[in-house]
Amino acid sequence: MSYTLSLFQRGLITMKLEWFQMVWTQGLRLARVSIFKEISTMYLLEEEAMRSGFGERESLRFDSVIVRHGGEIGIKGAWTRRVYERRLLNNLKGMLKHYEIPYDAILRRHGRFYLKTPAATEASLKLSGVFGVSSLSPALETTSGMRDIAAKSVFLASLTLSEGNSFAVRCRRVGEHPYTSSDVCREVGREILSELSDLGLRVDLKNPDVKLGVEVRDDRAFVYSEVVRGPGGLPLGTQKKVVCLLSGGIDSPVACWLAMKRGCPIVPLYFDNSPFTDESTTERALNVAAVLFDWAIGFPRRMYMVPHGQNLTEFKMKCPERLTCILCKRMMYRIAERIAEMERAEGIVTGEAIGEQASQTLQNLRVLNTAAKKYPIHRPLLGFDKAETERIAQKIGTYKPSTKRAKGCSAAPRKPATMAKLQQVAEAEEGLNIVEMVERSVKSLKVVNI
Ligand code: ATP
Ligand code: MG
Repeated sequence: MSYTLSLFQRGLITMKLEWFQMVWTQGLRLARVSIFKEISTMYLLEEEAMRSGFGERESLRFDSVIVRHGGEIGIKGAWTRRVYERRLLNNLKGMLKHYEIPYDAILRRHGRFYLKTPAATEASLKLSGVFGVSSLSPALETTSGMRDIAAKSVFLASLTLSEGNSFAVRCRRVGEHPYTSSDVCREVGREILSELSDLGLRVDLKNPDVKLGVEVRDDRAFVYSEVVRGPGGLPLGTQKKVVCLLSGGIDSPVACWLAMKRGCPIVPLYFDNSPFTDESTTERALNVAAVLFDWAIGFPRRMYMVPHGQNLTEFKMKCPERLTCILCKRMMYRIAERIAEMERAEGIVTGEAIGEQASQTLQNLRVLNTAAKKYPIHRPLLGFDKAETERIAQKIGTYKPSTKRAKGCSAAPRKPATMAKLQQVAEAEEGLNIVEMVERSVKSLKVVNI
C-alpha cells in the first residue's frame, strides 16, 4: 500500500520548515537536542531544562502527552485495573492542578492516557514525578489517516533530525485500520527520506540516532520522538498508609520513597533527640520531608514530631550504656504503633538495612522487632548496599538535604551492643516505666504541616 502527501500538505511542510530554519539557529537546535537527551534519563533535570527556556520552545510544538503506565497495572484483574487507573488519573490531575498546567482533556485509551495540552513538555516533566507512570512522550496528535500521520512525522523529523543522522520509525497500533504497523513504519520512513532529502538521512533500525514513534489508537494517532522516564510503581493511594520513621539521614527518606512507589501514602514520624542533637538535625528532617512530599502532590503534607530527649536521658541514666540505641529504637517503634493507630495506617517503615549500623545486625533487628506488638516493621532497604541507597537518594532529590551538615546523636555509646539478647534488653526495660514514657511522648507530639 502506498500513501503520498497532497500538494497542499507538502507546501505546508515546506513553509513550516522554512519558518523554523529561519527562527532556529543551529546553536538552538543543538541545545535542544542535548537537553532532550538529558530529560529522557532523569526527572530531576527538569529545573535545568526549564531554565534554558526549553519548556517554552517545546510547548509551541507539541499538543499532547502520551502517558504510559507500568505493565503491572495492565495485568491486574479488570476491577482492580479500573480502580488503579482511576487513582492514577486523579493523581495526574492533581499534579497538573498543583503546577497550574493547562489542559483540555485526558483520554483513557487501551492502557494509556492521552493528555491534550498546550504545555506538553512541561506537563511531561512534571508528570514524570507521578508514581505508576512508566514513561511519557510529548507528542503531536493527528487523525489515524496515513497521510496525516506521515505529514506530522515529517514535520517532527525536520525538527529532530540533523544532517547525516540515522533514524528508525516504530509504530504501535490498536483499532481497525486499512494498514498494519509495518506499513506505517515503511511509509513514514519513505516520506521522511524524500521530504528531507537535503539532510542526507539514512534508516538504521538497530542503532538509530533518533527514534520516531507513532501510536495509533482507533481514529487518532500520536507522533513523538522523546521518551521521559517515570518512576514506575503503583499509583499513590492504591495501598494503605504507612508510618515512616524519618530521621533525615540518607537511608530513611529512600525507604519512605520506596514505600510510596508501591502505592502507600506516608506519615513521616521524626524523633527530636535534643539536647543530644540540635535544631540542625530537625531542620534537615523537615527539608527532606518537603522533598518527599513533592512526590505526593494532592496528599496530606503532615509530619509528626516527637520529643525523645527525655527518653534518651532515662536510658542513659538507668540502663547499660551499650543498649542505648536498641532501647531508643524500641521506644520509637512503640510510639510509631500509637501513631499508626491514630492514623489508621497498616505498617511501620524504617530505613534499616542488615548490618548497616551496629544497631542493625540481624540479632539486634530481632530484638527490636519484639517491641512492635500490633504492626509489622517494613524495611525496604534490607538488602541494599549503601551505594545503592545513595544512588536512589540522588535520583529522588533527598541526597542533598540529607547530607547537609547536622549534629549527630551524642547519646549513642562508643561501644554499642551488636548482639543484644532479648533477656538483657527486657531486664533493662524492667527498670523503666515504659507505659508512662510512651504516654508522655504521645502527649507531647507535634504535627507539622510542610
Ligand atoms: P538513617 O540513615 O535513616 O538516618 P542510620 O543509618 O543513621 O539511619 P539508625 O540511626 O540506626 O541508622 O536508624 C535506623 C532507622 O531508625 C532509620 O533509618 C530511621 O528509620 C529510624 N530513625 C533513626 N533515628 C530516627 C529519628 N531521629 N527519627 C525518626 N526515625 C529515626
Ligand atoms: Mg542507615
